[in-house]
Amino acid sequence: MSTAVGPKVSHLSTQAALLDVIRGAGRISRVDLARRTGLTGATVSIVVRKLIDEGMVVEAGRAESTGGKPAVLLELDPDARYSIGVHLEQSGITYVLSNLGGAVVGRWRHTGAETADPSSVVERISLDLTSLVDSVGIDPDLLVGLGLVSPGPLASSVGMALTRPSMNAWTDFPLAAALQRSTGLPVMLENDATASAVGEYWSGSHGGSTCFAALYMGVGLGSGLMVRGDLYRGASSNTGEVGHICVALDGPECWCGGDGCVEALAGPEVVVAEARAAGISLPGNGHDNDFAALTRLALNDDERARSILHKSARYVALAAQALANIMDLDRIVLTGPAFAQAGSLYVPAIRERLNRSFFARTTHPIEVTISLHANEAAAIGGAALVLQSELAPRASSRLAVRGPSSPSSPSFMGARRSSARAFR
Ligand SMILES: [Zn+2]
Repeated sequence: MSTAVGPKVSHLSTQAALLDVIRGAGRISRVDLARRTGLTGATVSIVVRKLIDEGMVVEAGRAESTGGKPAVLLELDPDARYSIGVHLEQSGITYVLSNLGGAVVGRWRHTGAETADPSSVVERISLDLTSLVDSVGIDPDLLVGLGLVSPGPLASSVGMALTRPSMNAWTDFPLAAALQRSTGLPVMLENDATASAVGEYWSGSHGGSTCFAALYMGVGLGSGLMVRGDLYRGASSNTGEVGHICVALDGPECWCGGDGCVEALAGPEVVVAEARAAGISLPGNGHDNDFAALTRLALNDDERARSILHKSARYVALAAQALANIMDLDRIVLTGPAFAQAGSLYVPAIRERLNRSFFARTTHPIEVTISLHANEAAAIGGAALVLQSELAPRASSRLAVRGPSSPSSPSFMGARRSSARAFR
């Protein structure tokens, strides 16, 4: 269950801003809506009327009287609209279905992109979504859009502009257009680390922070930043690339074009390679499984595994310190699939470095925590970003009614089975 708190209203449309404030407040009067958003009473009345007519907002009793006529309270109808978050990775695709209130009502994880042709992966995503929406039993007409989250950097709304070698086939693939064509839904693209910051924020991991970072480790290392409730996007939503801070001049080459990057010295792929070179036996069925196996060894006190991960943690701590110093952070949340496995092995090194040398440490503390939903924060963020967008009418095209080609998974987590009505 998400805590539905959105960013400040400054970057949102009037309708999205009002929905966001109502979502955060639970129940609120028109007068308080005007006060919180700075909009005029007349504007609030007009937009609220439209939201009521469209079924997204309902009147829900009256406030306690403060002398005059008690004000009518408004609240969201959480089941009036839904959005989808899809986190596309080489090793797995995570799906999240969120309602208008920000609660996750369906989730699923399926085989990743691996080395498949991008067009076939897009087709598979579309089939998976058909099954997910069907299994949860919602009306496809209530879907407002799809937030597709992938490793950056992203080229605006088009696709991935630069990819690590294992995903070269995705470079310049028109991902947004292909997905929109296949699903009939409006598609937003977002960098995985940036989306994870939104996902953590919506899930309440910010803990009242005014400036926090989601430090994200999947196949690579990056971060997303929330400043006073606003997502900090930089020029193109590719902020916080702390994995590509150079910490060793003349260090190993990195796929980004630099050398001596934290990721090239201490990212999960490098850690797995070091473990293998040290003679540690790993399953060899994907780097994420290998990284998870190495983590389990370290947690079971295998000295060689602990030593390799400790060295990685010290480098990651350098990246965390640089980020904390530049942004004057008060909280860092470790998230993403690699931290879901190994967060407890990285936290001590990061805390130790920040306690010793975080520049603002005498002014305010900095919290370092591990996410409680590190595997799906990015997908939650993708769905949240769609809900915070315009909530424009859907594209006119619809997905074709699908046959019985359900995914092979035995069930959707958190989903209830319904009749075989397909996601159109
Ligand atoms: Zn790099």
